[in-house]
Amino acid sequence: MNDSPSPASLRIDAPDAAAIEEFRESILAKLVYQVGGRPERASPRDWFIATALAARDHIVDDWRRTNDQTRAEDRKGVCYLSMEFLIGRLLTDALGNLGLTETARQALAGLGVDLDAVAGQEADAALGNGGLGRLAACFMESMASIGVPAYGYGIRYENGLFRQIIAGGLQHEVPEDWLALGNPWEFERSSLVYEIRFGGHVRSEVSVDGSTRMVWHAGEIVNALAYDTPVVGWRGKRINTLRLWSARATDPLHLSEFNRGDHVGAQAARMRAEAISRVLYPGDETEAGQELRLRQEYFFASASLQDIIRRHLSRHAGLGNLADRVAVQLNDTHPAIGVAELMRLLMDVHGMDWDAAWAVTQATFSYTNHTLLPEALETWPVPMMERLLPRHMQIIYLINARHLDTARARGAGDALLSSVSLIDERHGRRVRMGHLAFVGSHRINGVSALHSQLMRDTVFADLNQVCGDRITNKTNGITFRRWLHRANPGLTHLLTDTIGPELLDDPERLEHLVPLAEDAGFRQRFAAQRRAAKERLTGVIATRIGLKVDPDALFDVQIKRIHEYKRQLLNVVQTVALYNAMRARPTGHWIPRVKIFAGKAAPSYHQAKLIIRLTNDVAATINEDPTLRGTLKVAFLPNYNVSLAEMIIPAADLSEQISTAGLEASGTGNMKLALNGALTIGTLDGANVEIDERVGRDNIFIFGLTAAEVAERKRAGFDARLAVAASPELRGALDAIASGVFSPGEPDRYRGLVESLLHDDRYLVTADFDAYHARQRDVATCWSKPESWWRSAVLNTAHVSWFSSDRTIRDYAEDIWKVTPR
Ligand SMILES: *Cc1c(COP(=O)(O)O)cnc(C)c1O
Repeated sequence: MNDSPSPASLRIDAPDAAAIEEFRESILAKLVYQVGGRPERASPRDWFIATALAARDHIVDDWRRTNDQTRAEDRKGVCYLSMEFLIGRLLTDALGNLGLTETARQALAGLGVDLDAVAGQEADAALGNGGLGRLAACFMESMASIGVPAYGYGIRYENGLFRQIIAGGLQHEVPEDWLALGNPWEFERSSLVYEIRFGGHVRSEVSVDGSTRMVWHAGEIVNALAYDTPVVGWRGKRINTLRLWSARATDPLHLSEFNRGDHVGAQAARMRAEAISRVLYPGDETEAGQELRLRQEYFFASASLQDIIRRHLSRHAGLGNLADRVAVQLNDTHPAIGVAELMRLLMDVHGMDWDAAWAVTQATFSYTNHTLLPEALETWPVPMMERLLPRHMQIIYLINARHLDTARARGAGDALLSSVSLIDERHGRRVRMGHLAFVGSHRINGVSALHSQLMRDTVFADLNQVCGDRITNKTNGITFRRWLHRANPGLTHLLTDTIGPELLDDPERLEHLVPLAEDAGFRQRFAAQRRAAKERLTGVIATRIGLKVDPDALFDVQIKRIHEYKRQLLNVVQTVALYNAMRARPTGHWIPRVKIFAGKAAPSYHQAKLIIRLTNDVAATINEDPTLRGTLKVAFLPNYNVSLAEMIIPAADLSEQISTAGLEASGTGNMKLALNGALTIGTLDGANVEIDERVGRDNIFIFGLTAAEVAERKRAGFDARLAVAASPELRGALDAIASGVFSPGEPDRYRGLVESLLHDDRYLVTADFDAYHARQRDVATCWSKPESWWRSAVLNTAHVSWFSSDRTIRDYAEDIWKVTPR
């Protein structure tokens, strides 16, 4: 019945007429009775809510069934604690995983409504900054898809990541009010409320049975209220739960205890309490050392652990076997205070002794490290911790004392002891959260082979020695449902038509593409899919920034947070060098190229914001220059988020992964782009190393210093001025930028930027420039031989099935969590 399938849906869900009719009825009923609308006057937004609610009905029964079953079988489950979940839009994801896309499309079509337009109405849930939060979202989807019972625990921020507006080339931040028009996916659980304490003091008190206990008399209590969002697995296999906490002031009676009925004070306390879940911290990599952030971290760690304990005690007599029933994964150090909190709950609330509590804690937790950048390793001042969490500070001191005793017993000297101590005594006294997470976990993992090795060799070398080897590697992954099936239905159709629909369930079948890389007809069809995606992106570029680009040009893409270590500046400087060369030889053989950038800078990260401005200034000059005759265009697309990524990635020919080697822990954008057939130009950093191993050196453009060479250069003291003196093209580009070629109204705008590069090139932009520039010429040469370009593109898609987050999750399940997917 479905003889011309729409490209936006997959053939797995050829619906029958009855199912379509039923879905149509359901959407109409939701529109009338829940949205309160009328079909003839409903806005696209109304249709979105009605469709989401209709889809939700399909989820709810299965959700209850999976939960009941897991409980009945008493299966071990995973709790994934993460400050960020960058989930993006959920409608197409839910419909796709339920096999209802085509049903919904035809049901809506019968009402004169277009599914894609409806889906586009959904707010992009940006409860995260970038890669770390997106990883958490991919992991949640994969756990549901391969059958791992799981709860994701985080914060229901009222304002997610800011919306980025570019005006006059500058980034402006405006709040993203993603809940303003309602969120059809969440269920408020008004009975799931936990008290979260702050401040006050601790006293040891003798209980009736004669034992002494530490009792924390809090100065302030805030309620954590749960909101649940279903996480639908592939083919509806499991429905897991994303449980996000919202902060509420405790009831007025309770408050009066603290405020003595002071009405104004009570209002202030309420504002103060609810501020906890108001905003996502936009700091990325660098930490905003602010009290509110610590309050957020403790708030969600405590609520989650109290919930985990309540659920455990509803089925078991005690907490001694907690670690047999639940694995708690700490996504970076943000929930690391949970180590001290679980100790407190086990001892002070549930009466366990120290040794038993410590054994349970270590067996329960495991910790994922995401960065070795020194400025991003979280620490909290001891006085702040003592004021806000006095009992936790005591527990941390006790953990530390025992930890240092063990280290001493193993022969550690003073230098080693101060390096492994949970308290950093060098910069004022500060609690090292990475150390706390490490010591409190049975397993610690890095996110790519290189990153895990660097953990062992550098930042965590001493701890790993003292604690016995606990570091393991779990290379990141991405969910192919979102990043291939949904983001690129055209390519997915081509692949399933060619190598079979089994691909949808078994990504390893991508290897069957290898012989097809030699098939000219297939390469052509592959290229045609890319061409169609580029055509669509061309439209997006035109509407969003009013720039006309040629869809036949090479789309050269760098999309990610703006950060000095990610080296967007290297890309911009190389763009300027290319521009200079093109102007010097206007009749040369220049391939048409569009440089596409997107990404947000943390609001207080001035250097990153200056790089955004430079990119836009360079774009303005180049895009207007008639001598280039359109061969080079530069586009900075504002407000990078999951939805924009889904549009850019299928249209990318070249993937820029050019971080200073040793600084990008893994990257996942690199995987999304390679999966969709983009060729990577990159350094041997993070997961690029593993992509290189899989796709082969003939199908990737590797350049630049290795991590070891970077470390060596830094040790030897690297002088950027020598590198610049030795490279006329680099010098020409930097001179142009510094002298105001791209900022004629303010010629000195970038003088400081260039000077700081010459005096302290920490990210080795100048050291890698020549190698990068040369590799970009190889890219152009390869692009001008379509046969070899598209052969490599096909082989990229063919060889990256290993980067499925299903594989990553199976690895965590077997090696760290000891849970069995099914
Ligand atoms: C994948 C993704 C990231 C991570 O990109 P990297 O290139 O790995 O830094 C960040 N933001 C969004 C919206 C993403 O989809």
